[in-house]
Formats: sequence, structure tokens, C-alpha cells
Amino acid sequence: MNQSRRMLGLGAVFAIASVLAAQAAIDVVPWRQLSDRNVSPLGRRLMRGNTRAWFHAESDHLIIHAAQEPLLSESAHEAQWCLMEIGRWLDLPALEKPVRVFVVKSSHDWARVMQAATHGGDGVAAHLAGEVFIRRVPDEEKRYVDLAHELVHARLYLAFGDRIPLWLDEGLAEYLGWRVAAAYYRQHRELHLVQEPAPVDEAQWMTWEQFFELRDYPDDPERNRIFYRQSYQVIRFLVERLGEEHLGPFVRQVIAGGQSAEQLLRDEWGWETVDWDEALTN
Ligand SMILES: [Zn+2]
Repeated sequence: MNQSRRMLGLGAVFAIASVLAAQAAIDVVPWRQLSDRNVSPLGRRLMRGNTRAWFHAESDHLIIHAAQEPLLSESAHEAQWCLMEIGRWLDLPALEKPVRVFVVKSSHDWARVMQAATHGGDGVAAHLAGEVFIRRVPDEEKRYVDLAHELVHARLYLAFGDRIPLWLDEGLAEYLGWRVAAAYYRQHRELHLVQEPAPVDEAQWMTWEQFFELRDYPDDPERNRIFYRQSYQVIRFLVERLGEEHLGPFVRQVIAGGQSAEQLLRDEWGWETVDWDEALTN
């Protein structure tokens, strides 16, 4: 649930960050002007008690800290826009506390984040209890979908805590992360992101029982990759069948518990048959 580990190529879109014009939509403010300075121990360690060396910005429901000002400007606009889109997609209740984002530059600092993340991997982004950590280095390749992906996790966590099943949490982060990032880069940076999903051998898919019951990420990297891919495809299938506007209500029903996704689709949404295999057909 916590850390990005997308190896499936769904978001395998790279380019040179420097070609993008940074858009400063949120003003940089001194640390003491932030409305909420209650940072996690990891966040405090990253700033090493020297909050003046970091750059900070705040807007509605977002506080962002970055090791360098250009990184702040670029990421703040993206994060703010993506958060609003995620809220709109899922029709989520207003946040009581802001999502906090740390934009980390040095490899040393990033190693601290990876140590704290419970779920290791090839991550350049992580979500931990409502805080998003992302590594960005000026003029280096970046993975465009990662920030939006982790913001979906953070937004869901702040709305529902740990009550969200793993398949739903990861599926929403994969699917919405992709949709929202693609829309952001198209509208604001004139970039068209392209999905390049790696092929999956039919025999590799998890059984639906395994998939819906999964409580922790598979240790095996290939199995983990399949889980991410399967969760993406299930959410895409649901959006196509239910309609985008019904994703939020369906998600709330699943999180409310009591009925499986399949029971809900039959009892509440009038589906005569639920054939999850259809989600895997393309
Ligand atoms: Zn994730």
C-alpha cells in the first residue's frame, strides 16, 4: 500500500525534465508561515532540523517541502492539480488535514526514505501515512506518473485510513494515477504520455480469490508486477462498466465492508454476471 513499485511499464514514460517549463502557481513561504508544521519523524530527519534550508509552499489541502526551489515550483503545481482531480474523480470528502509532499533531491536522503518504507523496490516515490515522498533531480529523467500515483494513496489514506483493501488501493493508484498524470501533462506541459504495458502470459495472472484476499504485497518481484497490473485492469474494467461517475460511490461501498466487490455488483448494481476475466482481455 505504501510504496510505489511499478515495474509493469504502465507508466513507463520518460523524458528529460528540463524541457518542461516550471510553473510556479503556489508561492514559496517561510517555514513559520505554514499552517501545519506537524511533520513526521522521517520528514524532520530529511530536513535535519534545518527547515530554512528547504523551500516550502502551501495551498488548499497541500503542503509541500523541497530541497531546491525549482523542484518546489514544478512539483507544487502538479501536486495541487492532481489532488483536485483525484478528489473530483472519487468525490471524496474534504480533507481535515493537508496532504504533505517532500521533494527529495539527494541520493542520501532518498536512501532514508527507502529505509522507512516497509515495502522495498525500485521506488522513486513512496506514500507513508498521508505524506508523499518523491525523488526528483533537475535535468534527470523522471517518471511522470509516480507523483499522481502516490497522491492517490495519500488521498485515500486520509479519507479512509487503513480500511481500504490492497487490490482497491493499488488499483486506484495505478489507474487514477495514470489518468490524472496523463491529463496533467497533456493540459499543462503539452506532453502526451504513452502506456507501454509489458505482455502478461495468461498463466501468470493470480486467481481471483488470491487477488481479492491479498493482504500484503507479494515478495516475488514478478508476482508483484502481476498484482499491480491485475489491480489496474480491474479498476479500468469497473470504470468502463460502471461509468466514471460511479467509481466513487462503488469505492465507498467496498470500503464500508460487509460485501465483496462481486456481491456489490450483483446486489447493488444489478449485474447478472460478474466475469472478472473480462478485465484481463486487453
Ligand atoms: Zn502504489
